[in-house]
Amino acid sequence: MTKLICQRILLKLSGEALMSETGGSIDADIVKRLATEIKELCDAGLQIGLVIGGGNILRGAEKASEGLDRVTSDQMGMLATVINALAMQDALEAHGQQVRVMSALKINQVCEDYIRRRAVRHLEKGRVVIFAAGTGNPFFTTDSAASLRAIEINAELMIKATKVKGVYSADPQKDKNAKFYPRLTYDEALDQRLNVMDTTALVLCRDNNVPMRVMNIFEKGAVMRLMMGEEIGSLIQR
Ligand code: UDP
Repeated sequence: MTKLICQRILLKLSGEALMSETGGSIDADIVKRLATEIKELCDAGLQIGLVIGGGNILRGAEKASEGLDRVTSDQMGMLATVINALAMQDALEAHGQQVRVMSALKINQVCEDYIRRRAVRHLEKGRVVIFAAGTGNPFFTTDSAASLRAIEINAELMIKATKVKGVYSADPQKDKNAKFYPRLTYDEALDQRLNVMDTTALVLCRDNNVPMRVMNIFEKGAVMRLMMGEEIGSLIQR
């Protein structure tokens, strides 16, 4: 088996990562492509916990700004993450990969409830665990949920998937002078308000010493190369 730099990771994908270019909320080909990459990583022996956001379907804060109750709209957002998790579960199973969706909200006719010990057991058995419904609480994001689950499952690394190479001083798609940071500390990311993840997520990772790799996972094979020791994207640590 290939020698990897770590055994267990938490991969955070935003909901938008599943969107089609024409605006469809879930693009089957994109989900399939991501599932292929995840399956390859599992075959190499990596244990993978996955958190997928819900922003391709609904974001609570946006709905609340249109007049919906914030708690209700966040609950709608959490359910959106369950929809994405089921799409990914299906694609992974189609590739012959064992997978379990575990939800922070109880909907156990659809998926398992999130129980930490059971999640760790699934991972040990080589199953991908998709953590759905965020933290189960309104006023949080799936970035915070990803940090929380990474800590709970003792992930050695959290990977935050982005469309760009890693962390920049400004949006590189808008500012051509944006500076790329190959390595930085959590405090630097927080002090400079770099647009990586929300503050709660960064503080959770910093205080619990979980390193984070911010990288473009849409580059084919990039996560595998990272796992084999290549420096890819930006590394944030304490
Ligand atoms: N959400 C929530 N609590 C959580 C995680 C998510 O209420 O612990 C809701 C919130 O409304 C959020 C939505 O679910 O806007 C979708 O998640 P997020 O915006 O983090 O998705 P992403 O931007 O990663 O696609």
